[in-house]
Amino acid sequence: MNPLPHFEQSPLLRSVPGVYHAFLGVDPVEGRGRRERLREVFSVAAETVGTLKQVHSASVLFFEPGDGDVPGGWKREGDALWSSIPGTGVGVHTADCVPVLLAHREIRVAAAVHAGWRGLAAGIVGETVRALAGRFGDAAVGGIVAVAGPCARGCCYEVGEETAEALQGLPGVASCLRKRTVPGKWTADLQGIALAALRGAGIPAGQTEGAGPCTICSPRFHSFRREKSTTARQLSFLYIRD
Ligand SMILES: [Zn+2]
Repeated sequence: MNPLPHFEQSPLLRSVPGVYHAFLGVDPVEGRGRRERLREVFSVAAETVGTLKQVHSASVLFFEPGDGDVPGGWKREGDALWSSIPGTGVGVHTADCVPVLLAHREIRVAAAVHAGWRGLAAGIVGETVRALAGRFGDAAVGGIVAVAGPCARGCCYEVGEETAEALQGLPGVASCLRKRTVPGKWTADLQGIALAALRGAGIPAGQTEGAGPCTICSPRFHSFRREKSTTARQLSFLYIRD
């Protein structure tokens, strides 16, 4: 039997009925693709898991069947995808950017967000929560459960003045940005910034959680800064059971 790819799951998100998720990292089996990984390891059909052409925007889209890995499929542009259709899932690809997965304690819904510093500064996390509130009502926000996954964190992620300035204005991020002794250099914790954005959007603190390590210093996850590869990325997905 083939070894499993490395993956993390959030205990908080696992406690939500009707959904299934994973933050999928490095796969020891060379050449095993996303389709095989989903089928062999998680018994999920890649046709049913939608992803987007990610462009560092604040654009939130509702799942369409063509978003899955289907023949002739064509990827729409956007950085957050959500679905309320049983038997479908949503996913994002990242390699230092933060993947955020959102579900609901009572409502069958799944959302996946890809957020780098640009997306966080553009408010992609809040936009996703607003899209769910727009469909299910403002009161539904109190039942959302959200997890920010493996990404570039404060131990390793060095950013310049421009990035630090773009992030500084966001509420609750003061502890996630640190000035380095080198002038003009900062470190940023993308997971902490995403969690602050979730709480800023009205999700109760006890219903948010960080999962997984810093991608730059953990060999179990792909990192663009460490590997300099534009193709090695994690797939984080959330699936609504039939
Ligand atoms: Zn690190």
